[in-house]
Amino acid sequence: MHYFEYKHGELHCERVPISKIAEKVGTPFYLYSYRTLVRHFNVFNEAFEGIPHLVCYSMKSNSNLALIRLFVNLGGGVDVVSGGELFRAISGGADPKKIVFSGVGKREDEIEYGLKAGILMFNVESLMELQTINGVAGRMNKKAPISIRVNPDIDAKTHPYITTGMKQNKFGIDILQAPMAYRLASELPHLKIIGIDCHLGSQLVDVEPFVEALKKLRTLVDDLRGGGIEIHYLDLGGGLGITYNDEEPPHPYEYASNILEEIRSFNCTLILEPGRVIVGNAGILISKVLYTKENEEKRFLIVDAAMNDLVRPSYYGSFHQILPVREEKREEVVVDVVGPVCESADFLAKGRNMPRLNPGELIAVMSAGAYGFSMATNYNSRPRVAEVMIRDDEIHVIRKREEYEDLIRGEEIPEFLVR
Ligand SMILES: *Cc1c(COP(=O)(O)O)cnc(C)c1O
Repeated sequence: MHYFEYKHGELHCERVPISKIAEKVGTPFYLYSYRTLVRHFNVFNEAFEGIPHLVCYSMKSNSNLALIRLFVNLGGGVDVVSGGELFRAISGGADPKKIVFSGVGKREDEIEYGLKAGILMFNVESLMELQTINGVAGRMNKKAPISIRVNPDIDAKTHPYITTGMKQNKFGIDILQAPMAYRLASELPHLKIIGIDCHLGSQLVDVEPFVEALKKLRTLVDDLRGGGIEIHYLDLGGGLGITYNDEEPPHPYEYASNILEEIRSFNCTLILEPGRVIVGNAGILISKVLYTKENEEKRFLIVDAAMNDLVRPSYYGSFHQILPVREEKREEVVVDVVGPVCESADFLAKGRNMPRLNPGELIAVMSAGAYGFSMATNYNSRPRVAEVMIRDDEIHVIRKREEYEDLIRGEEIPEFLVR
């Protein structure tokens, strides 16, 4: 359910016609619906009503400060995966006591930053990381709160690039090694074990892998408790999928009701790290048609957004629905929707049935709120696009379009080259 709808023959975001926003900020731009974001967060959060829980928004899916503040205002915490994300989370107003720090390669300075900020916990992903955190905490005269990210070796049946809970993935500590890792952690003087963590992957459209993981974790937690190691937090990660095309992922209520019983039996505070399911369908990418061209084989729609703005189609072969902003009856044609970047992998859609569009018209690339802007780059020296949030009839630019000057910030030509 979202607030991108046709009214009077034109796609709107909440009460604002999209052409009006394009006139104001130019194209391309990301467009987020405030009401959709609020709704998605609240629905997800309410699904776990009745058990102690904390929803830590996984900010790598979309790390704009305005979104962070919005979820913070709704009571959310944040899941961060780098020092930069921790900085953003704090800048966005997140309560450090509600921040969890995940990631397979935390540097010492990042660990120190997390300890200084007083975050809820580090999700530790290797034996060496346990030692490193212990060392940093010792130097700072602190005790670092940790949970161990367990790799339960479960096939989440999603795209190989976004499955994370299998033996061949780099993430977490193998579930068979986990008891030993906990024992090591319990012997390190500057660590305080508080939880257990796992994250299976992203865009999961089935609850079964979550249930399976919980069963495995449950056995482990029982064993740990038997050995005198207390576990207070159960972090189930994120990964719940969304509908891009014809996927039918469980509704958050269905997801929750299928795992609640299992979760209750842990007697833990539940932590969830949803990203995509909150923001994915709350954001779209608006682009303008620049040219059309065709040969005997192909018809191309050349638009002003490209793989540097939204990399998912090129990177994962992902499907995004593409809608014309003006709705009118016209002939359908099969097109490749491509951008200006000098790569054959630069496409937003291939072989897509679309109404015949003319240069100057606007298109909406749907379901682009997650892993859209946050994965954008400056490739081909393209300034990153603007981000806009609509609330009812208000237009808020939450990140202005980059300028050419932004492209060379920090660069320097050595003296010897200009002599
Ligand atoms: C990416 C990630 C998430 C969020 O995944 P979504 O599929 O966007 O919900 C949560 N936790 C961790 C550790 C992650 O790496």
